[in-house]
Amino acid sequence: MNSEELFKISKNIIPGGVNSPVRAFEPYPFFVKEAKGSHIVDIDGNDYIDYCLAYGPILLGHSDDDVMKDVYEQMQRGTAYGAPTENEVKLAEEVIDRVPCAEMVRFVNSGTEATMAAIRLARGFTGKSKIVKFEGAYHGAHDYVLVKSGSGAACLPDSAGIPVETTQNTLSVPFNNVDALTKLIEDEGEDIACVIVEPVMGNIGCVEPTVKFLKFLREITEENGIVLIFDEVITGFRVSRGGAQSYYGVKPDLVTFAKVLGGGFPIGAYAGKKEIMSLIAPNGPVYQAGTFSGNPISIQAGLSTLKKLDYPFYGEMSQKGDFLRESISDILEDLKLELQGVGLSSMFQIYFNEEPVIDYETAKRSDAKRFLVYFRELLKNGVFIPPSQFECNFISGAHTDDDLIKTSEAIEQALKVAWKI
Ligand code: PLP
Repeated sequence: MNSEELFKISKNIIPGGVNSPVRAFEPYPFFVKEAKGSHIVDIDGNDYIDYCLAYGPILLGHSDDDVMKDVYEQMQRGTAYGAPTENEVKLAEEVIDRVPCAEMVRFVNSGTEATMAAIRLARGFTGKSKIVKFEGAYHGAHDYVLVKSGSGAACLPDSAGIPVETTQNTLSVPFNNVDALTKLIEDEGEDIACVIVEPVMGNIGCVEPTVKFLKFLREITEENGIVLIFDEVITGFRVSRGGAQSYYGVKPDLVTFAKVLGGGFPIGAYAGKKEIMSLIAPNGPVYQAGTFSGNPISIQAGLSTLKKLDYPFYGEMSQKGDFLRESISDILEDLKLELQGVGLSSMFQIYFNEEPVIDYETAKRSDAKRFLVYFRELLKNGVFIPPSQFECNFISGAHTDDDLIKTSEAIEQALKVAWKI
């Protein structure tokens, strides 16, 4: 069976034919046979250099030999216990050693679970109800944060099935906007439990914060007794050893992780100041639990992965990222295209947009339709990126110089086709 045939069957028995919406693209997504290192192979026999990397978790490359060996060994010893293990303690120690704000860690199963628990914890700690997120930020698929629109005012749900009352305590402001945030906190600060932020907005493409904005965010939340949560589900252990908070030198109160932390297996975690984390059950009154939390397979994969993420890994990742970003910049100049090549460390994207992208509003003005032409042309030339202008592209440690050179050539070709040059 090929991908087209499988999709026909799948559409009838799995909603949209996929198990997460972003995976669907026209006319049908390819179905995966296997993936190794920087490459992913579909059941139709096509081999792609992969910059989707499962939307971020795969930092060492697919199916890393060392991680797999440790995981196989763990599998012989059992796959779930419902009782603690030494490896959970070791992984918590690794997180605390790397991440500036982490004094205590609780493992969960996904990024969604992590942000849901961190928000509940912030509310439990402060005794306040309102939360602030930034327009366009994605913090998982749970009810309190599934809102994109609305400025200052209470946000409306972004999905059917979420009661309006559920999101009336969720406020939003534009990213990178000191004035809007100041006004919101002046007006509503007394009722705000937390501000949750993706320090790099990875769900509208790739938008970096200004350092001034992040520092201001830290100051104003501290002054107003508001818990600052960095959602580092994408940036954690990816942009630097200690994530975005180390990269930009700004320390939040709480942080959420998932993706890279599980070394390719499902995981999530939230961490932060002991004073706040101590309120979690069974220590304190903020309830949170999970059958598979601290799952020994995911924990082993995370531990084996983090061991490999040390000097000189992050320097090498930045070099790979710089190579692609510089190539993109040269290509755009040669083709006389005024588009925005963006990114940091092992994250990159091209905005089909003539103006700099600093927030959701500016991101939305990108030519998302033309981007899909670019995406399809890349795919034709053996390069797989997420099928959306509003996702980020990722590089892994397994990407070779040869991969990166081939990718630059494919990008040039795809831009020419998309812009009819
Ligand atoms: N937070 C951010 C910043 C994310 O990018 C995502 C997922 O892409 C999530 C939270 C939710 O994580 P998960 O898909 O593991 O539930």
